[in-house]
Amino acid sequence: MKRRFNILSDPRFRLVYGNICRFREGFKPKKLRLNREQFTLLPDIKKKTPVYPGMLLAEHPSLEKGDLHAPVYGVISDINVRSIFIDVLPDDKVDASAFPEVERVELLDSDLRGEDLVLAVKKLGVNTRSLGQRTKTLVVNGLNPEPNITWAEDMLVEYVDEIKAGIELMRRFGRAEEIILAVPKGGEVKVDGVRIVEVEPEYPNSISELLIKQITKKENPEGWAAVGIHNVWSLGRVALTGLPLMETVITVSVDEHRANYLVANGSIVGDLIEYTNVTLKNGDTILRGGPLRGESLDQLDRSITKGTQGFFVVRKGTIPPMEGDSICVNCGACMLVCPTRIDPRMLSRYAEFNKYGMSRKENFHLCVDCGLCSYVCIARRPVLQYIRLAVSKLRQEEAMAKLTPIVPVSKD
Ligand code: SF4
Ligand code: SF4
Repeated sequence: MKRRFNILSDPRFRLVYGNICRFREGFKPKKLRLNREQFTLLPDIKKKTPVYPGMLLAEHPSLEKGDLHAPVYGVISDINVRSIFIDVLPDDKVDASAFPEVERVELLDSDLRGEDLVLAVKKLGVNTRSLGQRTKTLVVNGLNPEPNITWAEDMLVEYVDEIKAGIELMRRFGRAEEIILAVPKGGEVKVDGVRIVEVEPEYPNSISELLIKQITKKENPEGWAAVGIHNVWSLGRVALTGLPLMETVITVSVDEHRANYLVANGSIVGDLIEYTNVTLKNGDTILRGGPLRGESLDQLDRSITKGTQGFFVVRKGTIPPMEGDSICVNCGACMLVCPTRIDPRMLSRYAEFNKYGMSRKENFHLCVDCGLCSYVCIARRPVLQYIRLAVSKLRQEEAMAKLTPIVPVSKD
């Protein structure tokens, strides 16, 4: 990809930080909130049920979505259509002998292969959709996903065994003909038995479509797909522990400081922020995700899910806020920076004025959600957010169009 705009040589877009360390593990949540939408609860899971780490709570009907397990000792305090709430027992109140031991599943030593292995992995709580893609070449994306999110770097140095185990299981799925690992150029990463390709660690090369373009020098080549290293690490962790997936890794980034934390699934954002000693001031904004693609949180009682990449704190007054009704001044900066050469200027206008269908003629589907258009917009228009709105509206429309119309039954 040629440099289209000189902000991309800005050091803030470099995706390496060099602060390699083990993930911080000390955080003990007080409460958990586990997302249970579309899951089927087990019959004996109800309010006041005691739970223990690894206990199966709910199953998902899709083979691509991991089942739900309790990550801690505690008691279910409430269940609604969206969430299971757990009060976590403090360590001095836990009597582990009162609970059954979770049986370990030694996936690497087993004969499981193909769909049987995918099913076993799903039952251990791992989402298999991107890990089990059917393709010729599957690239494990080892770049930090965006500026200020830094766990990929640690995984490539401190968690090589997990990555190796994850890739071994993916090979046994038998769905991709070849699995390769993309790493930042100059990092001297080695994983036995895995072909490594080096990529310039510069945002937005970490986005799957652009990563593949970097490797193949082609746009959307046939037979190529990518999976994030976070997913592969999760699979490798399950492979090495033999236990269900109960935790995730996230980066907390504030005031030039970043650290990676291993946290129980369903932990509450506010509890973690308190644990990290970050002092939030009036007017600060917390983004779920990084500064380019993150979404601002309206409440601190939101939970951390397996897909959460991190939290980024924007201090009051450091970045001018976006204005939904700010007028486009036609400067063209968003078009110059867009890596897929679509027209974010027009796409944001169509969404602003509810002309979602018009987005089709501007190839909205080619947007890779990098957020560079919003970043450069001098008028501070929420360009990416407008495009996301259009994408969501058009998907809804397409889903509605597929529904079979209900024909009223005649009284005769
Ligand atoms: S978010 Fe989409 S429209 Fe905006 S610059 Fe990135 S690819 Fe282009
Ligand atoms: S960068 Fe902002 S102001 Fe400039 S053309 Fe794009 S949307 Fe309009």
